[in-house]
Amino acid sequence: MKGFAMLKIGEVGWVEKDVPACGPMDAIVKPLAVAICTSDVHTVWEGAVGERHNMILGHEGCGEVVEVGSMVKDFKPGDRVLVPAITPDWNSLEAQAGYSMHSGGMLAGWKFSNFKDGVFSEFFHVNDADGNLAHLPSNINVVDACMLSDMVPTGFHGVELADVQFGDTVLVVGIGPVGLMSVAGANLRGASRIIAVGTRPNCVEAAKGYGATDFISYKNGTIEEQVLALTDVKGVDKAIIAGGSVDTFSSVVKCLKPGGKIGNVNYLGSGDVIDIPRVEWGVGMGHKQINGGLMPGGRLRMEKLGALVASGRLDVSPLSTHVFEGWDKLPEALQLMKDKPADLIKPVVKFAD
Ligand SMILES: [Zn+2]
Repeated sequence: MKGFAMLKIGEVGWVEKDVPACGPMDAIVKPLAVAICTSDVHTVWEGAVGERHNMILGHEGCGEVVEVGSMVKDFKPGDRVLVPAITPDWNSLEAQAGYSMHSGGMLAGWKFSNFKDGVFSEFFHVNDADGNLAHLPSNINVVDACMLSDMVPTGFHGVELADVQFGDTVLVVGIGPVGLMSVAGANLRGASRIIAVGTRPNCVEAAKGYGATDFISYKNGTIEEQVLALTDVKGVDKAIIAGGSVDTFSSVVKCLKPGGKIGNVNYLGSGDVIDIPRVEWGVGMGHKQINGGLMPGGRLRMEKLGALVASGRLDVSPLSTHVFEGWDKLPEALQLMKDKPADLIKPVVKFAD
C-alpha cells in the first residue's frame, strides 16, 4: 500500500508499505476522507514529537472497515466508521482511572502518526475496534465526518475542562478550527457571553455563527486589558485556551474571576515554564484552576458527538474551507496547512462520497 509519510524532520513523501496486520481486537480501515491538522505541521516541520523516519502521517479521517479481528463484535467489513484521533487501550489502568488518553503513558492514547502509522494511507490499523470506532451516521458526509476526529472532540474537551455552566461569561483564546468548536461547545452548554480572541476575518465570521458575542484582537493591547474593559473589571467565569503560547496563561489567569477555570487544549510546542501571576492568582488562594488535557477518545463519546452533527444541532461544514479530491492532492493539502493562507480553516481530502 502507499502512504504519505514524514521521511524525517522537515521532509515528506510517498512511501510503500505492507498493509498492517489485524490483531484479534483490531480493525483495518481504508479512508473515505482525511483532514490535515496543524499537529501534522508541528510533527513534520518542527519535529514536535521527535525524529521519525518514514512514518505515515495523519490522525483525522473517516473510513470503511475492510477487515476485523476474530474478537470484534460490532463492526464488519463494509461498515462506514468515524475514527477518533485518540485511540486508547481501554483495558489499561489509566483508562480505568478515567484517563483513557494517557493509556500506556502520558499522551500515549495518541497513536496515529505518533507511535504508529497514521491515516494518510490506503489502509490503516485501529486498535481495540469495538472501543474506538463508531458507526458513521448515514446523513453525515465524509468531509464533515473528518471534523469529528479531532476538531469537535478537542474543542469540546476545552469546554469540559473549563466546566462551562449556564449563563457563564466565557473567554475563548484562539479561533482556529479547535477554538471555533470551543465557541460552539460553550454556546451549547449555555454560556451567556462568549468573548473570542482572534482576527482572521473568516474565523471571526465563523465564530459569530457559532455564538461568539464579542471579539478582541491581540493587536489592540493585552488580552487582560481588553477582557477587563469589556466586563466592568469583573473578568470572566471560564476560559478556554485553544491558541497562543506559554505566555497566554499569565494573561488568562488575570482575566478570571475568583473560582474561575481554564481549560487548555492548546499544544504548547515550545517554552520551558508557564508563569502564573501571584497576585491575580489570589496570592495562591484565588480558587483559579488551570486544567489542560488531551481529548478522550472512545466510541461512546464519538457516537454522542456524531449525534450532535447528525441531528443538525452542530454544523461543522464551515470548518472545511478547502476540499480536495484524490490521493495525489494530499501533498498540496498538507502544504496548504503549512502555509495557512488567510481564507483557510481546514483542508480535507476526500476519496469517496
Ligand atoms: Zn488533529
